[in-house]
Amino acid sequence: MLIKGGLCALPGSERLERRDLRVSGERIVAIAPVIEPEPGEDVVDASGLEVFPGAIDPHVHFDEPGFTHREDFHHGTMAAARGGVTAVIDMPCTSLPPVTSAANLREKLAAMGGKAVVDFALYGGVSGHLVEEALARDMEALAPDVVGFKCYFVSGMDTFTAVNHYDFGRAVAKAAELGRPLLLHAEDAGVVLPATAAMKARSAAEGREPSWADYVGSRPESAETVAAAAAVALARGRERTLHIVHVGTAEAAEAVAAAGASCETCPHYLAFSSDDFADKGSSLKTAPPVKAPGQADRLWKLLDSGVVSYVTSDHAPAPAAEKRTGSAWTDYGGIPGTGTLFPYLYSEGLKAGRLGLGAFLRATSGGAAARFGLSGAKGAIAVGMDADLVLVDPAGAYVVRGDELLSKGSITPFEGMRLRGSIRLTMVRGRAVWDADARERSVDPAAGVVVEAGYGKQLRWGYR
Ligand SMILES: [Zn+2]
Repeated sequence: MLIKGGLCALPGSERLERRDLRVSGERIVAIAPVIEPEPGEDVVDASGLEVFPGAIDPHVHFDEPGFTHREDFHHGTMAAARGGVTAVIDMPCTSLPPVTSAANLREKLAAMGGKAVVDFALYGGVSGHLVEEALARDMEALAPDVVGFKCYFVSGMDTFTAVNHYDFGRAVAKAAELGRPLLLHAEDAGVVLPATAAMKARSAAEGREPSWADYVGSRPESAETVAAAAAVALARGRERTLHIVHVGTAEAAEAVAAAGASCETCPHYLAFSSDDFADKGSSLKTAPPVKAPGQADRLWKLLDSGVVSYVTSDHAPAPAAEKRTGSAWTDYGGIPGTGTLFPYLYSEGLKAGRLGLGAFLRATSGGAAARFGLSGAKGAIAVGMDADLVLVDPAGAYVVRGDELLSKGSITPFEGMRLRGSIRLTMVRGRAVWDADARERSVDPAAGVVVEAGYGKQLRWGYR
């Protein structure tokens, strides 16, 4: 197959370059300014389109098995494909059982088998209440099948509890020994738990309903900066193993990077501030919450300079019954983000001039591929790599509609946002998985998914 006439985002280049790409089987086999088609060769006309490496979303909660009323692997990966994401990495904490042992991992793989339409990898989980030998034994048993481990300093889940500082120290040492990153939800329990109690007491004393300001006050920015500092201290000597997820404050990002650890942010921290709760209400509720006005501008600069390594969606949808309970405390914290990750960064990062091309590529694909042992075949347009591609019409536009995201969840703070660029085709290992033409010929929003469930395969550390 020949992808002809597109403007391609090649590694190391700060501007798009016109190239033809030849794909044979699952791989890119030739790249040149002009390649003539062989007799009978399929040709994809990419003239007028921009060609990027498929996005990698290394932070999704697809909830299977156990909480599939919120999301499952089929809907989650369809939403990813529609949004230009060709590989996801699924979190270990929001399934039942959670991925905290080899037996639980086998149960999860059996439940989600035959459902993915894009490639996927998994994290292992380090939950609280583990005795010393069990923590090491479970992490060792999981390591061949997972690309990293995840733990929390504060957790809202009964089925996946927080680790204390001592267990975190042991987990980071074990992860370093196993050669896998340890991901941390960095909010400090010593801040969040008493702050939550104080905010609940305040609304009760004032005889009023809880407000979004109460929720924001229950998880102040100091919760993140204190947790990030503690994590760096506890990981001393093994800082490169540490990765902080969904950072919202510039202070935490700078401290983590200065110590030699890595961090990610999410589109909602770049797009919104706590002021936006007034308009958006529970559609904007995430944990951690979006931060004070001004943080987003600083995060964009830190992303462009590489202090923030890449961007993830923290995709975690929920149905309206859970998302709109009528109380800021009980509304579900999470949004369906994997479908808006790449379109948002393309429009508001690359096209708006906040990110250079190299930074955009690191943020959307290359950074995560390198961090999770996938850069042998994912995360760049180069000969020998998987043909994971997203073709974008820069003259098109995309207006976000929650009920067209293909996720099980449709309540998004990005509802109605008009973004530059329109994704025309998403390709995983040389096969189209999302085709906008097929979507436009049908009344069914899912008609653009042009590959069978189960095409997506599991990726392991060192995949090539
Ligand atoms: Zn998450």
